Amino acid sequence: RDGWQVEITDKWLKGGWPWEIPHPDQACFVGFGGRTESYRDEHGHYRVRWIPEEHAIGVPHDVPVLGYRVNTCNRLRLWRADASESFDFGAFNIGDYYGAVEEKVGSETLSKVLYPNDGTDEGRRLRLKQQHFFVSCSLQDMLRSLEQRGLPVTEFPDHWAVQLNDTHPAIAVAELMRLLIDDKHLDWETAWDITSRSLAYTNHTLLPEALEKWGLGLFGSLLPRHLELIYEINRRFLQTVRLKYPGNEDVLRRVSIIDEEGGKAVRMANLATVAAHHVNGVAALHSELVRTKLFPEFAALWPDKFTNVTNGVTPRRWLALSNPPLRQLLNESIGEGWVRNLDELRALEQFQHDSGFLERWGQTKLACKRTLAHYIQRQSGLLVDPSSLFDVQVKRIHEYKRQHLNALQVIAQYLRIKNGQADGLAPRTVIFGGKAAPGYYMAKLIIRFLNGIAETVNADPDMDGRLRVVFLQDYNVKLGERVYPASDLSEQISTAGLEASGTGNMKFAMNGALTIGTLDGANVEIREQVGADNFFLFGKTESEISALHAEGYRPWELISSIPELSEVLKLVEQGHFSNGDGDLFRPLLENLTGRDPFFVLADFSDYLRAQDAVNRLWADREQWNRISLLNAARTGFFSSDRSISEYAERIWRAEPFPITITCDMP
Ligand SMILES: *Cc1c(COP(=O)(O)O)cnc(C)c1O
Repeated sequence: RDGWQVEITDKWLKGGWPWEIPHPDQACFVGFGGRTESYRDEHGHYRVRWIPEEHAIGVPHDVPVLGYRVNTCNRLRLWRADASESFDFGAFNIGDYYGAVEEKVGSETLSKVLYPNDGTDEGRRLRLKQQHFFVSCSLQDMLRSLEQRGLPVTEFPDHWAVQLNDTHPAIAVAELMRLLIDDKHLDWETAWDITSRSLAYTNHTLLPEALEKWGLGLFGSLLPRHLELIYEINRRFLQTVRLKYPGNEDVLRRVSIIDEEGGKAVRMANLATVAAHHVNGVAALHSELVRTKLFPEFAALWPDKFTNVTNGVTPRRWLALSNPPLRQLLNESIGEGWVRNLDELRALEQFQHDSGFLERWGQTKLACKRTLAHYIQRQSGLLVDPSSLFDVQVKRIHEYKRQHLNALQVIAQYLRIKNGQADGLAPRTVIFGGKAAPGYYMAKLIIRFLNGIAETVNADPDMDGRLRVVFLQDYNVKLGERVYPASDLSEQISTAGLEASGTGNMKFAMNGALTIGTLDGANVEIREQVGADNFFLFGKTESEISALHAEGYRPWELISSIPELSEVLKLVEQGHFSNGDGDLFRPLLENLTGRDPFFVLADFSDYLRAQDAVNRLWADREQWNRISLLNAARTGFFSSDRSISEYAERIWRAEPFPITITCDMP
């Protein structure tokens, strides 16, 4: 609204959802708060019991997930929170009407809100409660299923693989230990053996502000028994660290599960790393940085624990379903096997010198661009030319992803056109899309900035036929399905070392977009696969960025030496993209010319150079189409089928289950 992001609730369950099947008979109890007490059991063993202050009930709702044209169906088990006592007659009888339903309302918010805002103490508390709720339900369910099959609990790791997808479910370490020790009455060593042979952890980010920490006050009041168990896990772990690093308090401080600096807190990534049998990053570069920068001490202790599984995306959704024109061309030219075995796209290479085929290749892209152009016209009233270069950056808005670097580039192109230096520039439609976290001020200002640029550029008759800027509203997966197939150029321009993998980069390349990008995340592997000549590389490497950081980066000194950059910044400062308001984008300018924490100015010149190479290649459309074809042909590696097989073989040690294909179309 007026160029700013506004948030509204998405009541996606209001009409019910037909695909979920509730199983109230398999409901679980989950406790919160209260206290612990020790006792001696009938054999005289020391034991602890947790007496929670409140309970929620988790009711499983199963969603069937069909395989692609096979006779198997997997079960996705989701949990909905119900109050344990939905109506408090005691409170009702003394006239407390709200109190009578309070517990019901309270526990139902547990599964109601996705990732509650953690800007407040209340929000943080709800979020930790939610994490524990989902984790506890799932672990109890696994134990129940084992029991139902008559299997001993010691066989848990042979039947279940628990993959911690980021640290959000890392409380599972303590919860599984609690269930095994307090409920199943196993001794510590047996419980730890089961836990550490069942859990593995995938790290998704190196950004320090994104590594979860829970203050001990909050943690202890909500999960007192878990905190005791974590202290004991940490005590035993630090013992083994002391043996390896005698007298080295520094190492102890860094690896400890408890952060002792400032307000003490539980470090969930450390907890997950201590317990997991494998820890993986999501792209080769990222996994290397997890090993060398994030967890060097852990890697020295347990070198074999650390591994890489490069992310993938499903070709069923991101190619076959979302790109009908290309699907048809592929099926006609190389058969239908690519849908199950994406490596078969390699067969496209035989057509790389076939002008007729390259022409058809270009036509499938044009068809998708027309569809997106219609969508843009319906959504915003803006007319865009499907024959222009569709230059696209869609992803969450974040400073490290550097939508503002792209913005500066757009302004540079705008200035060239204004100054009569448009020769050699490809007519472009620059498309942005993405959401900011609701509390992330700078990201929201970047959205406003992109919309300000769009408004000025699109209203200027000098830009007609040369430059259009679009900010897509409400960018989501559904819209992504329209956008990736319609893109010529994929913007993957994060500060090197900060994007763990990216998956949008894979969706674009699979659909024949060329990438302009830094050596970051899976871009590195995309470039290796498609070939360096078929990728627009720019920017500082991760080690150059970290060297620049170490020697002291002074962005303001760069500006005067890059005339085009100072022109661009001057225009923004004058309010050219904010109706003359010189204040609106000042915080953004001060961010860039002050600390420039994401090295936007450091990469500006090289980015412009790479964009010039884009302009040159666009002028030779057959060559562009050839490179587009080679990009798609060489993205088989980025199928999620390959990622999942790697998890299955190397981390879960799960064998393939033979299936009979019965549902193939004639
Ligand atoms: C794939 C996808 C992403 C991830 O994009 P990146 O460019 O890898 O950050 C984000 N949002 C949506 C809707 C997606 O489809």
